[in-house]
Amino acid sequence: MSYFAVDASPLSLANEELSHLIKFPEELKQYTGTSLHVNGSRVDWYRPTSLPSLLAIKRKHSDARCITGNTECGIETKLQGRMYPTLVNPSAVRELNQITHTNDGLVIGSGVTLTALLDKCNALIGKLPVRPCCS
Ligand SMILES: Cc1cc2nc3c(=O)[nH]c(=O)nc-3n(C[C@H](O)[C@H](O)[C@H](O)COP(=O)(O)OP(=O)(O)OC[C@H]3O[C@@H](n4cnc5c(N)ncnc54)[C@H](O)[C@@H]3O)c2cc1C
Repeated sequence: MSYFAVDASPLSLANEELSHLIKFPEELKQYTGTSLHVNGSRVDWYRPTSLPSLLAIKRKHSDARCITGNTECGIETKLQGRMYPTLVNPSAVRELNQITHTNDGLVIGSGVTLTALLDKCNALIGKLPVRPCCS
């Protein structure tokens, strides 16, 4: 059984063919989320649109969990029976979804997708001088 994406079998279709078959709608790419609060019977779900609102939610609910892809938390709640009464989706918080190139390197927001990060790194490769990594 494969537990990690790197162990999974390669897709039979090339990425180019896939992106042709399954085209992500342009309107959704441009969509900017509005702030939302869904008060469910077991979970309070928030989607703030600014960092101050996200911090205000975290101040009010100290146990609030940020959920981005839900791969980890989804398993914890579905398979391990954990309960997270307050969930916050940070996808509409600009500061957490941007990559900033500084003199020291890249500052990567905690909500940046791996696709966006890969695109950014690919765009920078070749433009930047080669130098050893430091920790
Ligand atoms: C089938 C499967 C395959 C996987 N394969 C791989 C793999 O190949 N490589 C690998 O590295 N991992 C893999 N994982 C693990 C998983 O992808 C990682 O744990 C990943 O980091 C989870 O990201 P997420 O956005 O889905 O996190 P979530 O489930 O949304 O959250 C995980 C944790 O991060 C916190 N968090 C989420 N978003 C934010 C945010 N914006 N700011 C601050 N904190 C936040 C949450 O509160 C929670 O504590 C796999 C998991 C599964 C289920």
